[in-house]
Amino acid sequence: MASVTTRTVLITGANRGLGLEMVKQMVEGPSPLPYLFACCREPDGPRGKELQALAKSHPDAITVIQLDVADLCSIKKCAERVGSLVGPGGLNLLINNAAVLFHGTFQSTSPEDMLTTFNTNVVGPMSLTKELLPHLREAALASRTPGMSCSKAVVVNLSSMAGSMTGTPESYSRFPVMSYRISKAALNMLTICSALEFQKDNILSVLLHPGWVRTDMGGKEADIDKQESVGGLLSVIDSLTEKHNGAILDYKGVSLPW
Ligand code: NDP
Repeated sequence: MASVTTRTVLITGANRGLGLEMVKQMVEGPSPLPYLFACCREPDGPRGKELQALAKSHPDAITVIQLDVADLCSIKKCAERVGSLVGPGGLNLLINNAAVLFHGTFQSTSPEDMLTTFNTNVVGPMSLTKELLPHLREAALASRTPGMSCSKAVVVNLSSMAGSMTGTPESYSRFPVMSYRISKAALNMLTICSALEFQKDNILSVLLHPGWVRTDMGGKEADIDKQESVGGLLSVIDSLTEKHNGAILDYKGVSLPW
């Protein structure tokens, strides 16, 4: 069970898949418990049940917050709530994990799917990072440690090799998910922009590819399970330094091609 040495963390899409597994491993890991804002679209609906049960058994470590990353009002409300709870130590780690994937090629993707995917996978992380910036700045200032690290302030954006410019005909026919690919390529550039812009505030921005993982999104045929992926992702997050600002790494810490 991996963990991270950080104090306050916000995870989007925390009710299932990799997001829920991150919450589990962080609260059950060997390091002292971080304080977690576990965000999801419908905390009181059936899909929020597992997260709510976990939060109930760790009431001092987990606060569940409603957040639809495709809705700016919901993002603003979530940021306000975080602001009211986070205190002067700010927010150390923001994990933009929530995403959608629609199957579709150039010819079959509808404008609606394209817009929904872009709104959720790119505009969502952009707006949430913007709204939480004051709290990330507070965390960077409050930390007495030198350099950049997750005990200071880090924005992690979950990317995918599907967004890489190195796509081949084989990989395209295996994953015909055009809108998703474009959204992850855009998320990569969004992260480069935030790395360049927030470096002066000692806020590190990084892209992580979790591997091809058996979740609802990854499917049953994927290479690895979520325990292995998240164990690796948390170790990588724990080892981040300023040299990783603007990098794209996989769950083993290996640098990936753009
Ligand atoms: P899942 O499909 O299993 O889970 C997606 C999560 O995102 C769910 O919690 C879902 O919530 C949430 N979500 C979707 N739309 C919104 C929204 N508008 N607002 C808030 N939450 C939302 O995906 P994974 O766990 O597999 O993927 C997690 C991340 O890892 C994603 O960014 C994905 O692109 C990336 N990734 C995954 C890979 C894999 O093989 N699994 C490979 C490469 C990258 P709800 O239950 O409400 O729908």
